[in-house]
Amino acid sequence: MTNDLPVIPHWINGAALTPEGTRTAPVFNPALGEVIREVALAAEDDVNQAVESAHTAYLSWRDVSLAKRTAIMFNFRELLNSRKGELAEIITEEHGKVIDDALGEIARAQEVVEFACGITSHLRGDFSEQISTGFDIHSVRQPVGVAAIISPFNFPAMVPMWFFPIAIAAGNSVVVKPSEKDPTASIWVAELLKEAGLPDGVFTVLNGDKVAVDGLLTHPKVKSVSFVGSTPIAKYVYETGTAHGKRVQALGGAKNHMLVLPDADLDLVADSAVNAGFGSAGERCMAISVVVAVEPIADDLVPKIVERINTLRVGDGRRNCDMGPLITEVHRDKVAGYIDIAINDGAEVVVDGRGIEVDGEAGGFWLGPTLIDRVSTSSKVYTDEIFGPVLAIVRVKSFDEGLDLINASQYGNGTAIFTNDGGAARRFQKDVEVGMIGINVPIPVPIGSYSFGGWKDSAFGDTKAYGPEGVKFFTAEKAVTTRWLDPSHGGINLGFPSNA
Ligand code: NAD
Repeated sequence: MTNDLPVIPHWINGAALTPEGTRTAPVFNPALGEVIREVALAAEDDVNQAVESAHTAYLSWRDVSLAKRTAIMFNFRELLNSRKGELAEIITEEHGKVIDDALGEIARAQEVVEFACGITSHLRGDFSEQISTGFDIHSVRQPVGVAAIISPFNFPAMVPMWFFPIAIAAGNSVVVKPSEKDPTASIWVAELLKEAGLPDGVFTVLNGDKVAVDGLLTHPKVKSVSFVGSTPIAKYVYETGTAHGKRVQALGGAKNHMLVLPDADLDLVADSAVNAGFGSAGERCMAISVVVAVEPIADDLVPKIVERINTLRVGDGRRNCDMGPLITEVHRDKVAGYIDIAINDGAEVVVDGRGIEVDGEAGGFWLGPTLIDRVSTSSKVYTDEIFGPVLAIVRVKSFDEGLDLINASQYGNGTAIFTNDGGAARRFQKDVEVGMIGINVPIPVPIGSYSFGGWKDSAFGDTKAYGPEGVKFFTAEKAVTTRWLDPSHGGINLGFPSNA
């Protein structure tokens, strides 16, 4: 711990808390390459305190009327919308993405808040009259309890907001465990929720590392876990959480392919590949990392992508640049290492992002946009999730070869097809084994009233994030069968109830 740096605390029972003797980790500004603050790392006792406080809050929050809960959500929506500039600056400072991109993240998060404002209509149950003579049935959805939300570094505001607005509006309390790389956004949100009128303890922030995560996964009063991060940790969280009796949704990594058919509009394709490949320095789970070009178009497409890459300004996200730095030095070096792997594997490095000139400090974790053509599908450049500004081009001979390639991938988060052939697009939509599909749309993140999630190793558990599936995840259904006795009914009958 560096004594003169501020420490980002936990937020427990409506107040900041950094217990005596807390371990800490450094938080960087990746555009400067400097540690700007420290973050508290929870010990087991802190996990207990956070969960107990959230549980106590839950016991009264679940009885607060839907009208009051949604009124607080509306207040939060208004405050968030009017002060989103502050949040964007926090995101840019600790994550590195450019301000416009940070505002985009907040806008997508706000969709979920708006969905949660209307939770009343999503919590409606069903009713069927006279299902047996004199019997009716209805269903209700009730909150589950304390919901743990464990988030990755790449969307410090949006990913927690995929979950907590719905969880809270549905009557649960939440404990958010942000990424230790950019935790300030969650503390800012905690303060805003308090200002919006949320009772203390309903929204808790527990900062930390594996100790905090393991504590949440095993605590008996945590009833659900929503995780977003890399595939190995998602799998671990899913297995550990479910083994401890919790409902778990664990979203993992990705390797998103964009299939380009020869009839596609190549200018639209090149724009889309550059935007989706290099936006947020490729640190998006919905980034396009592989362009699958159906021959003969690759020779025409590659120069169009290069032309666009050459216009990109890389630098400090606060200086009106197009692309910021990577999250850490270690990650930057790992991503840059794939350029050497590509060369060794016989691929063609068309644009090498190493040593790029930037509008930023020399110590920042920079890597420029990189384009690698003729990537072999056996190369790690193709098989690994690189999570950086490295766009691979794989050349295939046919639609079927491209489709088979995508379906053979370990991941199934997002994908896109670019074509003017409706029949091909329709077949792609039907046969591709991926959770989110774009047709001439490169980053098909569903809007807030649909649900977000991948297939295969991109998601563990059967419930997607936000939208109707979010409501389902954060509530448990009861089915109630009712009979109001008519004096003519009754009598002894030991048989299993049957409908008549
Ligand atoms: P990560 O898996 O390293 O960390 C995610 C969370 O898990 C963090 O809160 C971290 O503190 C915690 N964690 C890390 N190691 C742990 C361990 N050993 N035990 C318990 N908890 C641990 O992921 P990241 O680097 O922060 O984020 C990038 C990854 O997230 C990429 O793989 C990206 O594709 C993925 N992601 C997926 C989606 C999606 O919707 N599928 C969205 C955003 C990011």
